[in-house]
Amino acid sequence: RKTGKLRGTLIGCGFFAENHLNAWTSMRDTPLEGVELVAVCDRDLAKAEAAARRFGIPRAYADAETMLAEQKPDFVDIATTLPSHRPLVELAARHGVPAICQKPFAESLEDAQAMVRACADAGVQLMVHENFRWQHPLLAVKQVLDEGWAGKPFYGRVQFRHGFDIITNQPYLAEDERYIIMDVGLHLLDVARFLFGEAGRLYCRTARIDPRVRGEDTATMLVDFHSGVTCVVELSTATRTEPEPFPECLVRIEGTDGTVELEQGYRLVLSRPGHREVRPVDAELLPWASLPWHVVQDSVLAIQRHWVDCLREGREPDTSGADNLATLELTFGAYRSAERGQAEVFG
Ligand code: NAD
Repeated sequence: RKTGKLRGTLIGCGFFAENHLNAWTSMRDTPLEGVELVAVCDRDLAKAEAAARRFGIPRAYADAETMLAEQKPDFVDIATTLPSHRPLVELAARHGVPAICQKPFAESLEDAQAMVRACADAGVQLMVHENFRWQHPLLAVKQVLDEGWAGKPFYGRVQFRHGFDIITNQPYLAEDERYIIMDVGLHLLDVARFLFGEAGRLYCRTARIDPRVRGEDTATMLVDFHSGVTCVVELSTATRTEPEPFPECLVRIEGTDGTVELEQGYRLVLSRPGHREVRPVDAELLPWASLPWHVVQDSVLAIQRHWVDCLREGREPDTSGADNLATLELTFGAYRSAERGQAEVFG
């Protein structure tokens, strides 16, 4: 087991990196086992310098290659947007630096496979920052399923429908030809894999409701899992309702013995004839967290802790690059299905 302080670096000091930076900072002072960010990078140097100042990080760079060459860190956390993911992961591999990469991992399955291969050939670990399955309420759902509470699951629904303005913080989302499946659908497909195993077939319908976005802003999928579960995966950013559900991921699972629901308000409801039990499964409000983001922020800390454990123990992360290939296969399959009006079949 690798002990001592880990020297980390981060690339991309934008909107979401704020959560990574807060989480890394909170992991800094663990005795012997801490993580220290030694440098940050953004091609907009002013952003890297501002982050370095705010979080007490010694160095700021505009160029990722210079940073990796000079710092020789224990890992790099890539928090940039999609087009830079492949070049930056391959850069990390060339420098022999283990890497975390934000989602969406890659623009195509071929890119993702090349990134996984580059890191495997270099002998470095690679994790996708696929944090939804690290959300406290979803971990609670997984736990009751594993305990057999529902019996054998046969039906699932994983849902993310809201009308919260996410474009102001992430304006690039409005311009992408592929919007909600690529931004959030992949999280839900990953959650469905986490709960039900691998999928064999998927049918998807999409629509664009809000004319301000270029891509699809609603998607409805029907997914058959090899485990026997039929799952509906639902996404929308065009939903007008009260109370606003953002950013809650809601779940319903029916099994041979009972029903498990993750209801709005982070309530886990376990029911079967003659029995109904409600458990609060909200995440802790971390000192740096803010509503309504706190469950997402807590999941960032959880996945970063998982990365550090895996790095120290030489283990493959649960959401490794290799694991994410299956999530991306479903993601790109959903677009193909929507375009062709036909189900996609997977191996
Ligand atoms: P952003 O545009 O606010 O920030 C990205 C930053 O990366 C920018 O400052 C940009 O200058 C920098 N950058 C881009 N390419 C670079 C390069 N080659 N070298 C150095 N710097 C570079 O974007 P964001 O909203 O913070 O999103 C970043 C990523 O996080 C996206 O992939 C997004 O999908 C993801 N995200 C994930 C979650 C989640 O819950 N997992 C939530 C929101 C966003």
